[in-house]
Amino acid sequence: METIEYGTITIDFEIKYTDRKTLGINVYPDGLVIIIAPYNSEMEAIKKKVLKRASWIVKQKDYFNNIKRLEAPREYVSGETHKYLGRSYRLKVEFGEAGEVKMKGGFFIIKSKTKERKKIKALLDKWYIKHALKKFRERLDICFEEMKHENIEYPKLELRRMPKRWGSCTPEGKIFINPELIKAPVYCIDYVMVHELCHLKIHNHSPAFYDLKTKYMPDWEERKRLLEAR
Ligand SMILES: [Zn+2]
Repeated sequence: METIEYGTITIDFEIKYTDRKTLGINVYPDGLVIIIAPYNSEMEAIKKKVLKRASWIVKQKDYFNNIKRLEAPREYVSGETHKYLGRSYRLKVEFGEAGEVKMKGGFFIIKSKTKERKKIKALLDKWYIKHALKKFRERLDICFEEMKHENIEYPKLELRRMPKRWGSCTPEGKIFINPELIKAPVYCIDYVMVHELCHLKIHNHSPAFYDLKTKYMPDWEERKRLLEAR
């Protein structure tokens, strides 16, 4: 990750080297800024270009932030829809002792003694975390199996809430996945797994990294787009 200062604002960006002739800038809905640069670009020239387009980059980021704010706030009441593995399920809050969550048909059925928003949210969040851990481990196993000839060690997996990322990893071989990813289709979850697994071998976003990612997931760009369009 590279950085430039624009007035009082710090702009973080990642560089993706390609065989195109000119520099390009992409700002993604999660706030990620990616500079597409020709292979022979000098860091100095890249930073200059980012600084030149800084006001546009900031505007794009604000635009995406506003969209997020406009998303309907969740009320955690019956009838509201919540996602799991890319599908929408309708919430049904029923009176009951147990405080349990069940998925049945197209419904999330939550039994609770109270309809208090905070309580219902806590119950549903707990359910998501439990299922996220299980599903992510399952997908990690499957993706790892495909890549085992790369001589990477099986990573530890942990959940971590990150406002701008679906996943990250440490040089020691630990993978962090955003529990929110459990709301996305398996197709997109695998994309994040493969991305992080590739980082265990190549820690940056160099052309070699993208080559490795493409080797194991030729359609990764499509999966990434789908994930970002959510
Ligand atoms: Zn990465």
